[in-house]
Amino acid sequence: MERIETDVVIVGAGAAGLTAATELVTAGREVVVLEARDRVGGRLWTGDVDGAMLEIGGQWVSPDQDALIETLDELGLETYDRYREGQNVYIAEDGERRLFEGEIFPVPAKTEGEIVGLIEKLDALVAEIDPDAPWTHPRAKELDEISFAHWLETQTDDVEARLNIGMFIAGAMLTKPTHAFSALQALLMAASAGSFSHLVDADFILDKRVVGGLQQVPLLLAERLGDRVRLGQPVRTVRWQEDAPAGAAAVVAVTDELEVHARELVLAVPPVLVDRISYEPPLPRRQHQLHQHLSMGFVIKVHAVYETPFWREQGLSGTAFSPYELSHEAYDNTNHGDTRGTLVGFVSDEAADEVFRLSAEERKERILESLSHYYGEQAKHPVVYYESDWGSEEWTRGAYAASFDMGGLARYGADLRTPVGPIRFACSDMAGKGYQHVDGAIRMGRLVASQIVEELA
Ligand code: FAD
Repeated sequence: MERIETDVVIVGAGAAGLTAATELVTAGREVVVLEARDRVGGRLWTGDVDGAMLEIGGQWVSPDQDALIETLDELGLETYDRYREGQNVYIAEDGERRLFEGEIFPVPAKTEGEIVGLIEKLDALVAEIDPDAPWTHPRAKELDEISFAHWLETQTDDVEARLNIGMFIAGAMLTKPTHAFSALQALLMAASAGSFSHLVDADFILDKRVVGGLQQVPLLLAERLGDRVRLGQPVRTVRWQEDAPAGAAAVVAVTDELEVHARELVLAVPPVLVDRISYEPPLPRRQHQLHQHLSMGFVIKVHAVYETPFWREQGLSGTAFSPYELSHEAYDNTNHGDTRGTLVGFVSDEAADEVFRLSAEERKERILESLSHYYGEQAKHPVVYYESDWGSEEWTRGAYAASFDMGGLARYGADLRTPVGPIRFACSDMAGKGYQHVDGAIRMGRLVASQIVEELA
């Protein structure tokens, strides 16, 4: 067993952990980053699949994400616009394919009125929510005790309006069904992006991509950190003590090969994985409880690459939505400068469970069938096809991120980031602004680093 001594040990080389490490090194601290996988990036993973560059994990950047944008600038990474010229597609309940422009779907006038009304109501509520402390809202407990499905039912009896508004938060963001999370959790999701209107506006929320892929952020950060980052080192045990003498090691992170002794430890892992580690002594009661009330959402990100972006010739932007389709949303995801065309579609929560019961061939057929409803028969014949399956990833266990069960946010949210002795927590899944996004991971990495710098000073 190799023994290492350092100021701070960081568990997890995702965007949060690597940002924390970078900030601490800049402040003159010694760090060691222990990463379970044999690569850095966590939920950022730009892969080569059969000769196609695919963003297997996170990829889009929106204009409000200034922590991420600053990091891209610092690293010299360039961005480009998501392709969006032309008409969008909406598929109605009876299967009719309707073309439209703008944000509001081509639905009957009454439904459109209900959708606009719901967006206004949600925007007004979201404006009252502090994304860093949604539990401080005067009606937090009440809003956390009703599901988002139920809240929508109390607002309108128009089912299509409810399905569409639900889709923006459920299928598209938390990747859980609307009955499985609270109205407060939905408001946090919208508040973290500035407003509910931002979630509805694909041109805002899915604005830009990074030339060469978003995994370059963790790759470049790790390159600068050099041999401070140790791959293939799942942390199994953390030994800690509350009152170590000043300057002494208060915490030890143990992998199968290393023992890292440090003054502070950052758990930069999804909160659902905190319990995979053994703690000596055990974590306090509050942590034992609260981590049981968080769970990962679940979505399949589907990539289909074609010889050409054929939908553009039909005047289509590639942007497509339907709460009635297996793939509830899809976009033109063609890489910068690529002559081939790529579509990306998403199959969320219960629909994802359903297709994972099928064989791989049947699943592919069902998903491509759904894409063909938006783009026509050609969509059934990609040259490269790939499904990002984060549910099978031992060190992630779902996608995109973790959220609380009913009542959990008001009850436990305030303690999610509370340190335990020398142990601190940082992850996109506990961010306010940028919650569940890379921007939030960077914010949490910066926050925890600044707290440690102050603590060790
Ligand atoms: P992670 O990236 O999960 O990093 C945690 C790290 O800890 C991992 O590397 C893991 O291997 C490691 N680890 C876990 N346990 C241990 C252990 N015991 N010992 C050592 N290491 C451990 N965000 C956007 O901003 N835009 C998008 O378009 C977008 N799309 C997404 C699409 C998909 C399919 C997915 C999965 C996510 C997407 N996201 C997107 C979300 C974004 O990728 C995440 O919010 C962000 O990358 C999380 O960073 P993190 O550092 O907080 O956590």
